[in-house]
Amino acid sequence: MEDLLTALHSGRTLLLDGGMGSLMQQLGGSMKSSENNLLHPQIVAAAHRQYLAAGSDAIISNTFSLNGIYAAKQGLTPQESERSLHAAMEIACEAAAGEHYLLADLGPSGELLAPFGTGDKEEYYRAYRSQAELMAEYAVDAFIIETVIDLNEALIILRACRDAAPQLPVLLSLTFSSLKRGGCTLMGNTAAAIAAQAEEQGAAAVGANCGDLTPEQYAQIIAAMREACTLPLLIQPNAGKPHREGQQTVYPLGPEEFASQMQACYDAGARLLGGCCGTTPQHIAALAQRFKG
Ligand SMILES: [Zn+2]
Repeated sequence: MEDLLTALHSGRTLLLDGGMGSLMQQLGGSMKSSENNLLHPQIVAAAHRQYLAAGSDAIISNTFSLNGIYAAKQGLTPQESERSLHAAMEIACEAAAGEHYLLADLGPSGELLAPFGTGDKEEYYRAYRSQAELMAEYAVDAFIIETVIDLNEALIILRACRDAAPQLPVLLSLTFSSLKRGGCTLMGNTAAAIAAQAEEQGAAAVGANCGDLTPEQYAQIIAAMREACTLPLLIQPNAGKPHREGQQTVYPLGPEEFASQMQACYDAGARLLGGCCGTTPQHIAALAQRFKG
């Protein structure tokens, strides 16, 4: 398998995965994604396998909510979250089997940094650094930081990853809520500022995932990032803007429509393509057909 950095710079399209939480629930897993690592490892493995079968080039470990800050909010002790991290990495390594890229996933703290909230920069750094160090013990090709709405927090996580394992590339993905000012996050960080900072601080790729924008709208974010940096660009939108139907959250874009809207992101320069909430293995299969067929 080609080295990930070489692949990123080749300009070829690499497919990531889609939503994990709802797929694992559908397969009989827990509502809390991270619980599955210890309680239902076979379900986490099955979800990874479905994405590989659909055409994904990479496994993203089921470790999104297992940073120390967020894990504590969920009522996990540090020992419990470490056990869950180890389990997730073992499952992911086995699924990747050295034949697919393995991306170690880090998600947001779920708190706001001071002065907007009570989050402390040093505490964040320590929590993310220990998560990154643990995950780097495995055969990981890169870190992926996802769904962060605050550039300051994203840069702390990036620094923690770089310090924990300087040899590993870090892919950085923020979540956008509006197209104002060329696209910005809830905390008001613009696409251009995020891309420039990511490059300056040593990220290997930058992009966007989740949030309130459709794939078509996200193309504008990608275009703004393309102007602001030379890094490879990644995009993993939700399957459109969700609405409620009774008790259920429904994402409107089916696989074909999703893939066809993703063309705009590709045309704007994104080459790492995947999905977030509401996307399924069928959505990834539709991407594979359109962009790798
Ligand atoms: Zn999402």
